[in-house]
Amino acid sequence: MTDRRTALTESFMQDLIARTPRQPEFHQAVREVAHDVLTIEKNDPRLHAARVLDRLSEPDRIITFRVTWEDDSGAVQINRGWRVQTSNAIGPYKGGLRFHPTVNLSVLKFLGFEQVFKNALTGLPLGGAKGGADFDPKGRSEAEIMRFCHAFMAELCKYIGPDHDVPAGDINVGTREIGYLFGAYKKHKGQFHGALTGKGESFGGSALRVEATGYGLIYFLCHMLGVQGRSLHGVRVAISGAGNVATHAAEMALQEGAMVVSLSDSTGVLLAEDGLTQDHVDWVRAQKAAGQAIDDAPGGMRYVAGKAPWGAVDAEVLLPCATQNELDADALAAAIDAGAGIIAEGANMPLTADAVALADRKGLLHAPGKASNAGGVAISGLEMSQNAHGRYLSSVEVCRALRDIMGTIHDQIRAEAGSAARLDYRRGANIAGYRKVAQAVAAFGVI
Ligand code: GLU
Repeated sequence: MTDRRTALTESFMQDLIARTPRQPEFHQAVREVAHDVLTIEKNDPRLHAARVLDRLSEPDRIITFRVTWEDDSGAVQINRGWRVQTSNAIGPYKGGLRFHPTVNLSVLKFLGFEQVFKNALTGLPLGGAKGGADFDPKGRSEAEIMRFCHAFMAELCKYIGPDHDVPAGDINVGTREIGYLFGAYKKHKGQFHGALTGKGESFGGSALRVEATGYGLIYFLCHMLGVQGRSLHGVRVAISGAGNVATHAAEMALQEGAMVVSLSDSTGVLLAEDGLTQDHVDWVRAQKAAGQAIDDAPGGMRYVAGKAPWGAVDAEVLLPCATQNELDADALAAAIDAGAGIIAEGANMPLTADAVALADRKGLLHAPGKASNAGGVAISGLEMSQNAHGRYLSSVEVCRALRDIMGTIHDQIRAEAGSAARLDYRRGANIAGYRKVAQAVAAFGVI
């Protein structure tokens, strides 16, 4: 079976790579799914004839555009913007916008591809997409960020809408940026409707959207431990990142009684051997909001420049919440030496392919981002239905819904993972997400 799987995957990947050269992140994401689902596709004549995975790995369309804006000195700046609309098989295109100098087509295609499966796992009618720009907001003034967002949306607004494509935030796109983007959308379209999620609560945003990805990650982790008859109480948890996902994951982990031993950013790591407190989390959040460094750590935390958390501190649970490929095999080996046994991804594809293989070989429990970080887009889905119906849920109701959705995702994966002693979360997530989208794609006929 493994040989057949590998042979099918390699032949599929050869074709894909020939068609889409120099897109390593995209290939990495597709390969991982292909390995788990191609045998299922092959064994089902309807899905096989429909060539579902071939179709899903060719986005419905890719929009590329120029973003021209003026910086504070009056100089003209030019960036490149994209929207990758991967699949609307089960609902409108849905996925975040990322502003970062590393954004390119390969990265956005991988993110759009992952989003299709993640969104299917939420059980909500959401297709998959991703977008963004190679704009670096670091060191930019608030006025420059506003002008960039307005210029970006002046073009993007032609391609999105509440029943068509509904972007949201991602790295460097938070509530502030969504406000500027929504303001521009409304201005250009002359209509007030929910074409973006992650909006401020005064203009149609959902309660708890900001917290949802990080909180959902911890709810999912609690289910992983629950299968073993354990809770998070007293468990040492290493977290990377210092953004929205990382800080809210830390906050909820603390509420569940965990000992959170790290946070980090691209410059270095904050270690707390005896566990950090909510005050530490608030401090990190405030520093980041003010565009300040996190190297001047308050008591109880120690900053180490140029390092990541992995292996730098003892921890059983690893929550990579920064970005793709942040955790490689060497780092994972060091983390395993320091006691790691469970990984739940807060970022999208944070493990390199080698690290994934090592986690497998060592028998770690490993939840992929498409399952464990789906809480954010799930609450985006609820924001869309709140906008459509004009009825808003309280934070208690949204919190209950988020807990339910993360539990349902866990159940779907368990159902696919069979009775194996160790739950294969990656395989379960890939298959459960694929099955749902594949049924829809096959039902449409050849189109
Ligand atoms: N960027 C988030 C993700 O990776 C959220 C997307 C959304 O809310 O549409 O899932």
